[in-house]
Amino acid sequence: MSFDTLGLMPIILKNVRNAGYETPTPIQQSTIPLVLLGKDVLGCAQTGTGKTAAFALPMIQHMAKKPIRPGQPRPIRQLILTPTRELALQIYENFVLYGKSLPVYPCVIFGGVGQQGQVDALQRGADTVIACPGRLWDLMNQGYVRLDSVETFVLDEADRMLDMGFIHDVRRIAAKLPPKHQTLLFSATMPSEVEKLAMDLLNDPETVKVDPVSSTVKKIDQCLYYVDKANKKFLLAKLLREADVENALVFSRTKHGADRIVRELKKDGIEACAIHGDKSQGQRQNALARFKSGESKVLIATDIAARGIDIAGLSHVFNYDMPMEPEAYVHRIGRTGRAGRDGKAISFCCIDEMKQLEQVEKLIGKRLPVRESEWPMLVTTPTDPKEKEAARQLAKAARLAKLGRTAEMPRKLTQSGNPAPERKAQQAVKAPAAHPARTEKNAKATPKAAQRPVKAASPAAQHQAKPTPAKPAVQAYKPRFGPGSENHAPTVPSRPTLPKGGKAMLIGSGGKVQLNAPKSSKQGLGKPVQRVNHARGRNGER
Ligand code: AMP
Repeated sequence: MSFDTLGLMPIILKNVRNAGYETPTPIQQSTIPLVLLGKDVLGCAQTGTGKTAAFALPMIQHMAKKPIRPGQPRPIRQLILTPTRELALQIYENFVLYGKSLPVYPCVIFGGVGQQGQVDALQRGADTVIACPGRLWDLMNQGYVRLDSVETFVLDEADRMLDMGFIHDVRRIAAKLPPKHQTLLFSATMPSEVEKLAMDLLNDPETVKVDPVSSTVKKIDQCLYYVDKANKKFLLAKLLREADVENALVFSRTKHGADRIVRELKKDGIEACAIHGDKSQGQRQNALARFKSGESKVLIATDIAARGIDIAGLSHVFNYDMPMEPEAYVHRIGRTGRAGRDGKAISFCCIDEMKQLEQVEKLIGKRLPVRESEWPMLVTTPTDPKEKEAARQLAKAARLAKLGRTAEMPRKLTQSGNPAPERKAQQAVKAPAAHPARTEKNAKATPKAAQRPVKAASPAAQHQAKPTPAKPAVQAYKPRFGPGSENHAPTVPSRPTLPKGGKAMLIGSGGKVQLNAPKSSKQGLGKPVQRVNHARGRNGER
Protein backbone atom coordinates (compact mmCIF):
# COMPACT_ATOMS: atom_id res chain seq x y z
CA MET A 1 0.00 0.00 0.00
CA SER A 2 1.17 3.53 -0.71
CA PHE A 3 0.32 6.89 0.87
CA ASP A 4 -1.42 7.87 -2.38
CA THR A 5 -4.35 5.54 -1.65
CA LEU A 6 -5.20 7.07 1.73
CA GLY A 7 -7.01 10.16 0.46
CA LEU A 8 -4.34 12.68 1.46
CA MET A 9 -3.90 15.90 -0.55
CA PRO A 10 -0.86 16.28 -2.87
CA ILE A 11 1.02 18.80 -0.73
CA ILE A 12 0.82 16.52 2.29
CA LEU A 13 1.97 13.57 0.16
CA LYS A 14 4.92 15.66 -0.95
CA ASN A 15 5.77 16.57 2.65
CA VAL A 16 5.55 12.91 3.64
CA ARG A 17 7.90 11.92 0.83
CA ASN A 18 10.27 14.70 1.91
CA ALA A 19 10.22 13.23 5.42
CA GLY A 20 11.54 10.01 3.86
CA TYR A 21 8.42 7.89 4.31
CA GLU A 22 7.64 5.52 1.44
CA THR A 23 4.86 3.30 2.68
CA PRO A 24 2.38 3.98 5.47
CA THR A 25 2.76 1.92 8.63
CA PRO A 26 -0.19 -0.33 9.65
CA ILE A 27 -1.54 2.24 12.13
CA GLN A 28 -1.37 4.93 9.44
CA GLN A 29 -3.13 2.70 6.91
CA SER A 30 -6.08 2.09 9.20
CA THR A 31 -6.30 5.41 11.07
CA ILE A 32 -5.82 8.06 8.38
CA PRO A 33 -8.99 7.23 6.38
CA LEU A 34 -11.08 7.07 9.59
CA VAL A 35 -9.86 10.47 10.82
CA LEU A 36 -10.47 11.98 7.38
CA LEU A 37 -14.07 10.72 7.64
CA GLY A 38 -14.47 12.54 10.94
CA LYS A 39 -14.82 9.36 13.06
CA ASP A 40 -13.77 9.00 16.69
CA VAL A 41 -10.85 6.55 16.99
CA LEU A 42 -9.55 4.42 19.82
CA GLY A 43 -6.01 3.50 18.80
CA CYS A 44 -4.03 0.79 20.57
CA ALA A 45 -0.51 1.34 19.38
CA GLN A 46 2.88 1.46 21.01
CA THR A 47 5.54 4.07 20.45
CA GLY A 48 7.47 3.68 17.23
CA THR A 49 4.56 2.50 15.11
CA GLY A 50 4.14 5.88 13.39
CA LYS A 51 1.04 6.92 15.28
CA THR A 52 1.96 10.63 15.31
CA ALA A 53 1.69 10.81 11.53
CA ALA A 54 -1.45 8.64 11.74
CA PHE A 55 -3.33 11.49 13.46
CA ALA A 56 -1.28 14.50 12.33
CA LEU A 57 -1.58 13.99 8.56
CA PRO A 58 -5.41 13.90 8.40
CA MET A 59 -5.63 16.73 10.97
CA ILE A 60 -3.39 18.93 8.84
CA GLN A 61 -5.54 18.12 5.83
CA HIS A 62 -8.63 19.09 7.81
CA MET A 63 -7.13 22.50 8.60
CA ALA A 64 -5.93 23.00 5.05
CA LYS A 65 -9.37 22.28 3.63
CA LYS A 66 -11.15 24.71 5.98
CA PRO A 67 -8.64 27.53 6.48
CA ILE A 68 -9.38 30.67 8.47
CA ARG A 69 -9.60 33.69 6.18
CA PRO A 70 -6.78 36.19 6.58
CA GLY A 71 -7.61 38.89 9.10
CA GLN A 72 -10.09 36.67 10.95
CA PRO A 73 -9.31 35.63 14.57
CA ARG A 74 -7.68 32.23 14.73
CA PRO A 75 -9.13 30.18 17.62
CA ILE A 76 -7.82 26.83 18.84
CA ARG A 77 -9.41 24.26 16.52
CA GLN A 78 -7.24 21.24 17.35
CA LEU A 79 -6.00 20.21 20.76
CA ILE A 80 -3.48 17.43 21.35
CA LEU A 81 -2.75 16.42 24.94
CA THR A 82 0.41 14.47 25.59
CA PRO A 83 2.14 13.52 28.86
CA THR A 84 5.71 14.76 28.42
CA ARG A 85 7.45 17.89 27.19
CA GLU A 86 9.67 15.88 24.85
CA LEU A 87 6.70 14.21 23.24
CA ALA A 88 4.91 17.56 22.93
CA LEU A 89 7.95 19.03 21.18
CA GLN A 90 8.22 16.07 18.84
CA ILE A 91 4.56 16.23 17.86
CA TYR A 92 4.97 19.96 17.28
CA GLU A 93 8.02 19.33 15.06
CA ASN A 94 6.06 16.69 13.11
CA PHE A 95 3.18 19.13 12.55
CA VAL A 96 5.65 21.69 11.24
CA LEU A 97 7.27 19.06 8.96
CA TYR A 98 4.09 17.51 7.58
CA GLY A 99 2.25 20.85 7.36
CA LYS A 100 4.92 22.71 5.40
CA SER A 101 3.40 25.27 2.99
CA LEU A 102 -0.06 24.69 4.48
CA PRO A 103 -2.18 27.04 6.64
CA VAL A 104 -1.50 25.26 9.95
CA TYR A 105 -0.31 27.23 12.95
CA PRO A 106 0.82 24.88 15.71
CA CYS A 107 1.96 25.95 19.15
CA VAL A 108 3.40 23.91 22.00
CA ILE A 109 2.63 24.32 25.71
CA PHE A 110 4.41 22.59 28.58
CA GLY A 111 5.54 23.32 32.11
CA GLY A 112 9.04 23.78 33.52
CA VAL A 113 9.70 26.94 31.49
CA GLY A 114 8.38 30.51 31.69
CA GLN A 115 4.86 30.83 30.37
CA GLN A 116 5.22 34.18 28.57
CA GLY A 117 6.52 32.80 25.27
CA GLN A 118 3.63 30.33 25.19
CA VAL A 119 1.08 33.04 26.03
CA ASP A 120 2.49 35.21 23.22
CA ALA A 121 2.23 32.32 20.74
CA LEU A 122 -1.39 31.73 21.77
CA GLN A 123 -2.19 35.41 21.39
CA ARG A 124 -0.63 35.56 17.94
CA GLY A 125 -3.18 32.92 17.00
CA ALA A 126 -2.50 29.17 17.16
CA ASP A 127 -5.09 26.85 15.67
CA THR A 128 -3.34 23.64 16.72
CA VAL A 129 -2.24 23.41 20.34
CA ILE A 130 -0.02 20.56 21.50
CA ALA A 131 0.06 20.63 25.28
CA CYS A 132 0.92 18.87 28.50
CA PRO A 133 -2.18 18.90 30.72
CA GLY A 134 -0.74 20.66 33.81
CA ARG A 135 0.46 23.87 32.10
CA LEU A 136 -2.56 23.99 29.81
CA TRP A 137 -4.91 23.87 32.81
CA ASP A 138 -2.90 26.69 34.42
CA LEU A 139 -3.21 28.88 31.34
CA MET A 140 -6.91 28.07 31.05
CA ASN A 141 -7.42 29.25 34.62
CA GLN A 142 -5.58 32.47 33.81
CA GLY A 143 -7.93 33.04 30.88
CA TYR A 144 -5.35 32.63 28.11
CA VAL A 145 -6.90 29.53 26.60
CA ARG A 146 -10.42 28.96 25.34
CA LEU A 147 -11.40 25.58 24.02
CA ASP A 148 -14.91 26.28 22.76
CA SER A 149 -13.89 26.16 19.09
CA VAL A 150 -12.05 22.84 19.25
CA GLU A 151 -13.02 20.51 16.39
CA THR A 152 -10.53 17.69 16.98
CA PHE A 153 -9.26 16.54 20.35
CA VAL A 154 -6.38 14.04 20.58
CA LEU A 155 -5.39 12.26 23.76
CA ASP A 156 -1.96 10.73 23.16
CA GLU A 157 -0.37 8.08 25.40
CA ALA A 158 -3.43 7.89 27.62
CA ASP A 159 -1.92 5.10 29.75
CA ARG A 160 1.10 7.28 30.55
CA MET A 161 -1.23 10.11 31.49
CA LEU A 162 -2.73 7.72 33.99
CA ASP A 163 0.68 6.61 35.32
CA MET A 164 1.80 10.20 35.72
CA GLY A 165 -1.35 11.27 37.53
CA PHE A 166 -2.68 13.54 34.75
CA ILE A 167 -6.01 11.82 34.27
CA HIS A 168 -7.76 14.29 36.58
CA ASP A 169 -6.44 17.27 34.59
CA VAL A 170 -7.36 15.54 31.34
CA ARG A 171 -10.96 15.10 32.48
CA ARG A 172 -11.18 18.74 33.61
CA ILE A 173 -9.82 19.95 30.27
CA ALA A 174 -12.08 17.62 28.27
CA ALA A 175 -15.08 19.00 30.16
CA LYS A 176 -14.37 22.45 28.64
CA LEU A 177 -14.56 21.20 25.04
CA PRO A 178 -17.65 21.98 22.99
CA PRO A 179 -20.24 19.19 22.87
CA LYS A 180 -19.58 18.42 19.21
CA HIS A 181 -16.02 17.48 18.33
CA GLN A 182 -14.00 14.55 17.03
CA THR A 183 -11.92 12.63 19.59
CA LEU A 184 -8.92 10.38 18.97
CA LEU A 185 -7.48 8.47 21.90
CA PHE A 186 -4.20 6.57 21.67
CA SER A 187 -2.77 4.27 24.27
CA ALA A 188 -0.16 1.53 24.19
CA THR A 189 -1.94 -0.45 26.92
CA MET A 190 -5.58 -0.46 27.99
CA PRO A 191 -5.84 -0.56 31.77
CA SER A 192 -9.42 -0.41 33.04
CA GLU A 193 -9.20 3.31 33.90
CA VAL A 194 -8.12 4.19 30.37
CA GLU A 195 -10.96 2.07 29.01
CA LYS A 196 -13.37 3.99 31.23
CA LEU A 197 -11.92 7.30 30.08
CA ALA A 198 -12.27 6.17 26.47
CA MET A 199 -15.92 5.25 27.06
CA ASP A 200 -16.57 8.69 28.56
CA LEU A 201 -14.75 10.70 25.88
CA LEU A 202 -15.33 8.79 22.66
CA ASN A 203 -18.52 8.72 20.68
CA ASP A 204 -19.13 5.48 18.79
CA PRO A 205 -15.40 5.03 18.13
CA GLU A 206 -13.66 2.82 15.61
CA THR A 207 -10.99 0.73 17.26
CA VAL A 208 -7.61 0.40 15.62
CA LYS A 209 -5.24 -2.11 17.12
CA VAL A 210 -1.68 -2.38 15.99
CA ASP A 211 1.21 -4.29 17.44
CA PRO A 212 -0.22 -5.09 20.88
CA VAL A 213 2.13 -4.36 23.72
CA SER A 214 2.74 -8.03 24.47
CA SER A 215 4.50 -8.57 21.13
CA THR A 216 7.79 -6.76 20.92
CA VAL A 217 8.89 -5.41 17.58
CA LYS A 218 10.35 -8.25 15.57
CA LYS A 219 13.35 -6.35 14.17
CA ILE A 220 14.86 -5.92 17.63
CA ASP A 221 17.57 -8.35 18.62
CA GLN A 222 17.14 -8.82 22.36
CA CYS A 223 19.55 -10.38 24.80
CA LEU A 224 20.27 -10.59 28.49
CA TYR A 225 23.33 -10.49 30.71
CA TYR A 226 23.23 -11.73 34.28
CA VAL A 227 25.56 -9.38 36.09
CA ASP A 228 26.05 -8.18 39.65
CA LYS A 229 24.85 -4.66 40.38
CA ALA A 230 28.36 -3.37 41.09
CA ASN A 231 29.68 -4.75 37.80
CA LYS A 232 26.99 -3.28 35.56
CA LYS A 233 29.06 -0.15 34.91
CA PHE A 234 32.05 -2.17 33.66
CA LEU A 235 29.87 -4.29 31.41
CA LEU A 236 28.09 -1.23 30.02
CA ALA A 237 31.36 0.55 29.24
CA LYS A 238 32.70 -2.55 27.50
CA LEU A 239 29.56 -3.10 25.40
CA LEU A 240 29.35 0.59 24.43
CA ARG A 241 32.84 0.32 22.98
CA GLU A 242 31.77 -2.44 20.58
CA ALA A 243 31.88 -1.46 16.95
CA ASP A 244 28.19 -1.81 16.11
CA VAL A 245 27.07 0.69 18.76
CA GLU A 246 26.33 3.89 16.82
CA ASN A 247 24.25 5.46 19.57
CA ALA A 248 22.65 4.06 22.69
CA LEU A 249 19.81 4.91 24.98
CA VAL A 250 20.46 3.54 28.47
CA PHE A 251 17.55 3.15 30.87
CA SER A 252 18.07 3.73 34.55
CA ARG A 253 15.39 3.07 37.14
CA THR A 254 16.16 6.21 39.16
CA LYS A 255 17.23 9.80 38.51
CA HIS A 256 20.26 9.47 40.81
CA GLY A 257 21.14 6.22 39.07
CA ALA A 258 21.10 8.01 35.70
CA ASP A 259 23.50 10.69 36.96
CA ARG A 260 25.75 8.03 38.48
CA ILE A 261 25.96 6.14 35.18
CA VAL A 262 26.97 9.36 33.40
CA ARG A 263 29.77 9.90 35.95
CA GLU A 264 31.00 6.31 35.70
CA LEU A 265 31.04 6.40 31.91
CA LYS A 266 32.88 9.72 31.93
CA LYS A 267 35.53 8.16 34.19
CA ASP A 268 35.84 5.46 31.55
CA GLY A 269 36.27 8.07 28.85
CA ILE A 270 32.80 7.69 27.32
CA GLU A 271 30.84 10.88 26.72
CA ALA A 272 27.27 10.58 27.99
CA CYS A 273 24.44 12.82 29.14
CA ALA A 274 21.29 12.20 31.14
CA ILE A 275 17.68 13.32 30.98
CA HIS A 276 15.29 12.89 33.88
CA GLY A 277 12.71 14.78 35.87
CA ASP A 278 15.25 16.69 38.00
CA LYS A 279 16.85 18.30 34.95
CA SER A 280 15.59 21.67 33.81
CA GLN A 281 13.86 21.93 30.48
CA GLY A 282 16.95 23.61 29.03
CA GLN A 283 19.24 20.81 30.25
CA ARG A 284 16.91 18.17 28.84
CA GLN A 285 16.69 19.81 25.45
CA ASN A 286 20.42 20.38 25.39
CA ALA A 287 21.12 16.72 26.25
CA LEU A 288 18.68 15.58 23.58
CA ALA A 289 20.21 17.91 21.00
CA ARG A 290 23.74 16.69 21.81
CA PHE A 291 22.60 13.11 21.51
CA LYS A 292 20.71 13.66 18.26
CA SER A 293 23.66 15.47 16.72
CA GLY A 294 25.95 12.59 17.68
CA GLU A 295 28.10 14.80 19.93
CA SER A 296 27.39 12.38 22.72
CA LYS A 297 26.64 8.85 21.65
CA VAL A 298 25.07 7.72 24.91
CA LEU A 299 21.93 9.08 26.51
CA ILE A 300 20.89 7.88 29.96
CA ALA A 301 17.21 8.27 30.72
CA THR A 302 14.54 7.29 33.19
CA ASP A 303 11.34 5.74 31.86
CA ILE A 304 9.26 8.87 32.24
CA ALA A 305 11.77 11.22 30.66
CA ALA A 306 12.41 8.87 27.77
CA ARG A 307 8.78 8.47 26.92
CA GLY A 308 8.21 9.87 23.48
CA ILE A 309 11.86 10.49 22.64
CA ASP A 310 12.11 9.90 18.94
CA ILE A 311 15.59 9.40 17.64
CA ALA A 312 15.69 8.02 14.15
CA GLY A 313 18.04 5.10 13.76
CA LEU A 314 18.74 4.39 17.40
CA SER A 315 21.06 1.40 17.24
CA HIS A 316 21.02 0.19 20.85
CA VAL A 317 18.83 0.28 23.92
CA PHE A 318 20.31 -0.86 27.22
CA ASN A 319 18.16 -1.82 30.16
CA TYR A 320 20.78 -1.00 32.78
CA ASP A 321 18.08 -1.66 35.37
CA MET A 322 15.18 -3.96 34.64
CA PRO A 323 11.93 -1.99 34.49
CA MET A 324 9.54 -2.15 37.42
CA GLU A 325 6.54 -2.69 35.12
CA PRO A 326 6.94 -5.29 32.40
CA GLU A 327 5.07 -3.08 29.86
CA ALA A 328 7.84 -0.50 30.21
CA TYR A 329 10.25 -3.05 28.73
CA VAL A 330 8.29 -3.03 25.50
CA HIS A 331 8.19 0.78 25.46
CA ARG A 332 11.89 0.99 26.16
CA ILE A 333 13.06 -1.37 23.46
CA GLY A 334 10.53 0.16 21.06
CA ARG A 335 12.97 3.10 20.84
CA THR A 336 15.28 1.04 18.69
CA GLY A 337 14.53 -0.93 15.51
CA ARG A 338 12.30 1.88 14.27
CA ALA A 339 10.91 2.51 10.84
CA GLY A 340 12.33 -0.59 9.25
CA ARG A 341 15.79 -0.45 10.86
CA ASP A 342 17.40 -3.14 12.95
CA GLY A 343 18.16 -2.51 16.56
CA LYS A 344 19.55 -4.22 19.64
CA ALA A 345 18.07 -4.28 23.11
CA ILE A 346 20.43 -5.46 25.83
CA SER A 347 19.21 -6.06 29.36
CA PHE A 348 21.25 -6.35 32.55
CA CYS A 349 19.76 -8.39 35.36
CA CYS A 350 21.18 -8.66 38.87
CA ILE A 351 19.96 -10.95 41.61
CA ASP A 352 17.46 -8.36 42.92
CA GLU A 353 15.80 -8.08 39.52
CA MET A 354 15.00 -11.72 38.85
CA LYS A 355 11.33 -11.14 39.54
CA GLN A 356 11.09 -8.24 37.07
CA LEU A 357 12.87 -10.35 34.46
CA GLU A 358 10.40 -13.16 34.98
CA GLN A 359 7.49 -10.72 34.49
CA VAL A 360 9.03 -9.31 31.31
CA GLU A 361 9.57 -12.77 29.86
CA LYS A 362 6.01 -13.71 30.75
CA LEU A 363 4.68 -10.62 28.98
CA ILE A 364 6.69 -11.03 25.80
CA GLY A 365 6.07 -14.77 25.87
CA LYS A 366 9.68 -15.85 25.42
CA ARG A 367 12.96 -16.22 27.24
CA LEU A 368 15.55 -13.58 26.53
CA PRO A 369 18.67 -15.27 25.15
CA VAL A 370 21.45 -15.11 27.73
CA ARG A 371 24.94 -13.88 26.81
CA GLU A 372 28.03 -14.32 28.94
CA SER A 373 30.48 -11.67 29.95
CA GLU A 374 33.62 -11.47 32.00
CA TRP A 375 31.46 -10.27 34.91
CA PRO A 376 29.13 -13.18 35.59
CA MET A 377 26.64 -12.90 38.41
CA LEU A 378 27.88 -14.51 41.61
CA VAL A 379 25.05 -16.07 43.52
CA THR A 380 25.42 -17.26 47.08
CA THR A 381 23.26 -20.31 47.49
CA PRO A 382 21.80 -21.15 50.92
CA THR A 383 24.27 -23.07 53.12
CA ASP A 384 23.67 -26.78 53.53
CA PRO A 385 22.13 -27.31 57.02
CA LYS A 386 24.84 -29.85 57.87
CA GLU A 387 27.59 -27.37 57.06
CA LYS A 388 25.75 -24.77 59.07
CA GLU A 389 25.67 -27.08 62.12
CA ALA A 390 29.38 -27.87 61.76
CA ALA A 391 30.18 -24.17 61.60
CA ARG A 392 28.04 -23.58 64.66
CA GLN A 393 29.88 -26.30 66.60
CA LEU A 394 33.24 -24.82 65.62
CA ALA A 395 32.19 -21.37 66.75
CA LYS A 396 30.95 -22.81 70.01
CA ALA A 397 34.20 -24.66 70.62
CA ALA A 398 36.12 -21.44 70.02
CA ARG A 399 33.87 -19.59 72.45
CA LEU A 400 34.34 -22.25 75.12
CA ALA A 401 38.09 -22.35 74.57
CA LYS A 402 38.16 -18.67 75.40
CA LEU A 403 36.46 -19.43 78.72
CA GLY A 404 38.96 -22.22 79.40
CA ARG A 405 36.41 -24.93 78.82
CA THR A 406 36.07 -27.68 76.29
CA ALA A 407 33.13 -28.59 74.17
CA GLU A 408 32.87 -31.99 75.90
CA MET A 409 31.95 -30.36 79.19
CA PRO A 410 28.24 -29.94 79.05
CA ARG A 411 26.70 -27.09 80.89
CA LYS A 412 24.69 -27.53 84.04
CA LEU A 413 21.47 -29.37 83.42
CA THR A 414 18.09 -28.20 84.50
CA GLN A 415 15.91 -30.46 86.60
CA SER A 416 14.26 -31.82 83.50
CA GLY A 417 17.65 -32.82 82.11
CA ASN A 418 18.04 -30.05 79.51
CA PRO A 419 21.11 -27.82 79.38
CA ALA A 420 20.54 -24.80 81.56
CA PRO A 421 21.04 -21.39 80.02
CA GLU A 422 24.63 -20.22 80.34
CA ARG A 423 23.89 -17.39 82.76
CA LYS A 424 21.91 -19.56 85.17
CA ALA A 425 24.46 -22.32 85.06
CA GLN A 426 27.14 -19.89 86.18
CA GLN A 427 25.12 -18.51 89.04
CA ALA A 428 23.73 -21.68 90.38
CA VAL A 429 26.81 -23.73 91.04
CA LYS A 430 26.18 -23.17 94.73
CA ALA A 431 23.04 -25.09 95.45
CA PRO A 432 23.04 -28.88 95.06
CA ALA A 433 25.78 -30.06 97.37
CA ALA A 434 24.26 -28.18 100.26
CA HIS A 435 20.81 -29.63 100.00
CA PRO A 436 20.66 -31.60 103.21
CA ALA A 437 17.38 -33.28 102.64
CA ARG A 438 18.31 -34.57 99.23
CA THR A 439 21.81 -35.64 100.22
CA GLU A 440 20.40 -37.51 103.12
CA LYS A 441 17.80 -39.14 100.99
CA ASN A 442 20.32 -40.11 98.32
CA ALA A 443 22.63 -41.54 100.89
CA LYS A 444 19.90 -43.73 102.20
CA ALA A 445 18.64 -44.83 98.83
CA THR A 446 21.97 -45.41 97.06
CA PRO A 447 24.71 -45.34 99.60
CA LYS A 448 27.46 -46.21 97.11
CA ALA A 449 26.55 -43.53 94.67
CA ALA A 450 26.27 -41.01 97.45
CA GLN A 451 29.71 -41.85 98.82
CA ARG A 452 31.40 -41.67 95.45
CA PRO A 453 33.38 -38.45 95.17
CA VAL A 454 31.44 -35.85 93.29
CA LYS A 455 34.34 -35.31 90.93
CA ALA A 456 34.06 -38.75 89.45
CA ALA A 457 30.32 -38.75 89.13
CA SER A 458 29.97 -37.12 85.72
CA PRO A 459 31.59 -34.46 83.59
CA ALA A 460 28.72 -32.22 84.65
CA ALA A 461 29.46 -32.82 88.28
CA GLN A 462 33.14 -32.18 87.62
CA HIS A 463 32.27 -28.94 86.04
CA GLN A 464 30.02 -27.96 88.91
CA ALA A 465 32.38 -29.07 91.60
CA LYS A 466 35.50 -27.38 90.25
CA PRO A 467 35.15 -23.65 90.55
CA THR A 468 33.04 -23.05 93.66
CA PRO A 469 33.82 -24.25 97.11
CA ALA A 470 30.66 -23.81 99.19
CA LYS A 471 30.45 -20.26 100.36
CA PRO A 472 29.48 -19.61 103.93
CA ALA A 473 26.84 -17.14 102.84
CA VAL A 474 24.92 -19.86 101.05
CA GLN A 475 22.21 -21.16 103.27
CA ALA A 476 21.02 -24.72 103.20
CA TYR A 477 17.73 -25.05 101.54
CA LYS A 478 14.85 -24.96 103.95
CA PRO A 479 11.31 -25.14 102.75
CA ARG A 480 9.24 -22.43 104.22
CA PHE A 481 6.16 -24.56 104.53
CA GLY A 482 5.27 -28.19 104.81
CA PRO A 483 6.96 -31.11 106.56
CA GLY A 484 10.53 -30.08 105.60
CA SER A 485 10.24 -26.75 107.36
CA GLU A 486 11.47 -26.40 110.91
CA ASN A 487 8.86 -24.15 112.33
CA HIS A 488 5.65 -25.00 110.64
CA ALA A 489 3.37 -25.06 113.59
CA PRO A 490 4.13 -21.88 115.51
CA THR A 491 4.94 -19.32 112.78
CA VAL A 492 2.15 -19.93 110.32
CA PRO A 493 -0.93 -18.47 111.89
CA SER A 494 -3.94 -20.61 111.87
CA ARG A 495 -6.44 -19.53 109.29
CA PRO A 496 -8.78 -17.09 110.99
CA THR A 497 -12.31 -18.18 111.16
CA LEU A 498 -14.39 -15.71 109.33
CA PRO A 499 -17.40 -14.33 111.03
CA LYS A 500 -20.70 -14.91 109.42
CA GLY A 501 -23.21 -12.23 108.64
CA GLY A 502 -21.31 -10.07 106.08
CA LYS A 503 -19.45 -7.95 108.68
CA ALA A 504 -16.44 -5.84 107.67
CA MET A 505 -13.15 -7.37 108.78
CA LEU A 506 -9.46 -6.72 108.72
CA ILE A 507 -6.71 -9.17 109.10
CA GLY A 508 -4.34 -7.87 111.70
CA SER A 509 -1.19 -8.96 113.46
CA GLY A 510 -1.02 -12.62 114.28
CA GLY A 511 -3.90 -13.28 111.95
CA LYS A 512 -6.36 -12.06 114.48
CA VAL A 513 -9.61 -10.87 113.18
CA GLN A 514 -10.84 -7.52 114.31
CA LEU A 515 -14.42 -6.92 113.75
CA ASN A 516 -15.82 -3.47 112.94
CA ALA A 517 -12.40 -1.87 112.73
CA PRO A 518 -12.51 1.82 111.91
CA LYS A 519 -11.87 2.31 108.17
CA SER A 520 -10.17 5.67 108.48
CA SER A 521 -7.69 4.82 111.22
CA LYS A 522 -5.01 2.17 110.98
CA GLN A 523 -4.30 2.57 114.65
CA GLY A 524 -3.85 -0.64 116.45
CA LEU A 525 -4.01 -2.80 113.40
CA GLY A 526 -0.39 -3.84 113.36
CA LYS A 527 1.24 -5.56 110.41
CA PRO A 528 -0.84 -7.60 108.03
CA VAL A 529 -0.27 -11.33 108.10
CA GLN A 530 2.32 -12.77 105.85
CA ARG A 531 0.62 -14.54 102.99
CA VAL A 532 1.99 -16.90 100.39
CA ASN A 533 1.78 -15.37 97.01
CA HIS A 534 0.64 -18.22 94.84
CA ALA A 535 1.40 -16.27 91.73
CA ARG A 536 5.06 -16.79 92.46
CA GLY A 537 7.15 -19.88 91.95
CA ARG A 538 7.74 -22.59 94.48
CA ASN A 539 10.62 -20.81 96.13
CA GLY A 540 9.20 -17.38 95.83
CA GLU A 541 11.10 -16.52 92.64
CA ARG A 542 9.29 -14.81 89.89
P1 AMP B 1 5.90 7.62 16.22
O1 AMP B 1 5.35 6.26 16.53
O2 AMP B 1 4.88 8.54 15.69
O3 AMP B 1 6.67 8.16 17.39
O4 AMP B 1 6.95 7.47 15.01
C1 AMP B 1 8.12 6.73 15.11
C2 AMP B 1 9.15 7.02 14.02
O5 AMP B 1 8.74 6.48 12.78
C3 AMP B 1 9.37 8.49 13.78
O6 AMP B 1 10.77 8.69 13.69
C4 AMP B 1 8.76 8.79 12.44
O7 AMP B 1 9.49 9.80 11.77
C5 AMP B 1 8.89 7.45 11.74
N1 AMP B 1 7.82 7.17 10.78
C6 AMP B 1 6.50 7.46 10.92
N2 AMP B 1 5.82 7.01 9.85
C7 AMP B 1 6.71 6.43 9.03
C8 AMP B 1 6.62 5.79 7.76
N3 AMP B 1 5.46 5.65 7.14
N4 AMP B 1 7.73 5.32 7.18
C9 AMP B 1 8.90 5.46 7.80
N5 AMP B 1 9.09 6.07 9.00
C10 AMP B 1 7.99 6.54 9.62
